[in-house]
Amino acid sequence: MCGIVGYIGSKNCVPIILEGLRRLEYRGYDSAGIAVIRDDKFFIQKNAGKVADLAAALGKADGSLFSHVGMGHTRWATHGEPNDVNAHPHWDQKKQIALVHNGIIENYLAIKTKLLRDGHVFLGATDTEVLAHLIGVMFDECGDLATAVRLALSEVQGTYGIVVISPRDPQRIVAARRGSPLLIGVGDGENFVASDASAIVSHTRQVLYLDDGEIADVTCDHVRTMTIEDVDTQKTVHEVTLELSQIERGGFDHFMLKEIHEQPQTIHDAMRGRLLVDEGDVKLGGLQNTLGRLLSARRLILTACGTSWHAALVGEYMLEQIARIPTEVEYASEFRYRDPVINVDDVVLLISQSGETADTLSALRDAKSKGATVLGIVNVVGSSIARESHGGVYVHAGPEIGVASTKAFTSQLTVLALITILLARARGMARERGQVLARELASLPEKVDAVLSDTSTIQQIAREFKDARNFLYLGRGSNFPVALEGALKLKEISYIHAEGYPAAEMKHGPIALIDRNMPVVFIVPRDGIYEKVISNIQEVRARKGRIIAVANEDDSEIDKMAEFVIRVPHTYGFFGPILNIIPLQLLAYYMAVERGTNVDQPRNLAKSVTVE
Ligand code: GLU
Repeated sequence: MCGIVGYIGSKNCVPIILEGLRRLEYRGYDSAGIAVIRDDKFFIQKNAGKVADLAAALGKADGSLFSHVGMGHTRWATHGEPNDVNAHPHWDQKKQIALVHNGIIENYLAIKTKLLRDGHVFLGATDTEVLAHLIGVMFDECGDLATAVRLALSEVQGTYGIVVISPRDPQRIVAARRGSPLLIGVGDGENFVASDASAIVSHTRQVLYLDDGEIADVTCDHVRTMTIEDVDTQKTVHEVTLELSQIERGGFDHFMLKEIHEQPQTIHDAMRGRLLVDEGDVKLGGLQNTLGRLLSARRLILTACGTSWHAALVGEYMLEQIARIPTEVEYASEFRYRDPVINVDDVVLLISQSGETADTLSALRDAKSKGATVLGIVNVVGSSIARESHGGVYVHAGPEIGVASTKAFTSQLTVLALITILLARARGMARERGQVLARELASLPEKVDAVLSDTSTIQQIAREFKDARNFLYLGRGSNFPVALEGALKLKEISYIHAEGYPAAEMKHGPIALIDRNMPVVFIVPRDGIYEKVISNIQEVRARKGRIIAVANEDDSEIDKMAEFVIRVPHTYGFFGPILNIIPLQLLAYYMAVERGTNVDQPRNLAKSVTVE
């Protein structure tokens, strides 16, 4: 889930590793640690808490620490509580190797039981420490670090991105991956290992992405890659295009606020070169090879987790109503374990910001093995979902650092709108109607800009409701998923309990919650079901609920019913969610600021969920 960075070369690795860990902080973590080799011995420092705590502890322990080889880790605890002992790196019985690990070793208990019988003593409760001991045993037997890692991994079930170093062989770093991303940064007389390019991009842009089941044996001037079965593999060097400014806050108080304000640009970037306004059509290079299968698909299945799942729900409305293709949406975590009926003429679209979401990736593999065409809608270029799909569309939102997803969501919606227009036109929609839709989509960045230009009402609402304990979000049609996403944003960063519902469902249960203390956010644009939502607003008013409405600029009726009104420009119904979510992102943001929570790294959350 979290962060790994390693270095081997002629420079001092300590500042390089600490800088890399800081750049990975956005992924969410609970402890941090570092191991370096100095005078043929380990120096290891690790603690629960932040990278800043680690840096301070290092300064106290040895302010002049210097080493040419080392690695660091930010941990998101899965096995064992987040304390100093369970923090990574871990080492083996004889302290000959040290290991950092992202992921979960599923059969760690069986391995641990065997090692306990052989007299091993474990200091903490993690699955990772068990793997460290196993690698140590293998190293004792074979004397070669890469071989020891290979042999140990052949006994392991689960997911991992790992890095191993040893003072017995200080000229190398061994890395391996299965299920957790890992890349090698290639430098001049130096090499890096990282779970995410942002950790090393200030040093090198040349990277090799490890594939699942691959091991890398890295020295300062050479990288050898092989499979767990010891077959050499050939890798291509990729150039990372990430700019440093994209991963810095640039004058904003938080990454989340920066990313909310980037949306006019990121929505534009998602359609750039793809939306052909004059032709009323769309061109998507990543779908060219699979277009035939998409057009003959009997149904589309959209599968995702969290915010991406909400995007999928909006996509279902667009694809069914505009392109008239039967579409189903399912949580990836449910889809993968219920043995779904998948036909060879089904097309499965997998949506994930990181492209590494464990459940979504497994859903992809499952659908692919059953013969379906699988397509990815992802943000991170070169990620696992992007590489393992038959085709797909990058959303081009740029790095999203805030744990609560904002700009990736609106870019996903934009890409789903593009796919919808593409399929609708190919299935016979008239050019004129395509032009209307394309023009409306093209106008969205400007309209988002208008929403962002005045946030004073939203800030006022945040001050008014900052002590609320519950929130209800209600919308209908494609604004129902917007209600879900608005509620999720609030939960994620302000820790206020919030629920999203289809507005008409309220009277089947949640209405029991309404009293004078309950804020209810209605998404109520002037569309075909406006009057119906107004009736739902009246039902809440009659029970003294406090109404906040997200409504169109020209809607004067709503002022009579709502205590607060947030205005958004009018847009074509299907594209409404792209606009209507913006004020809800801002509301969650300002609520969190009022309550003093950690906006960019909310408690317990991780940015890219690479464990099940
Ligand atoms: N399962 C390991 C642990 O709990 C690794 C967690 C991680 O990915 O950071 O320590």
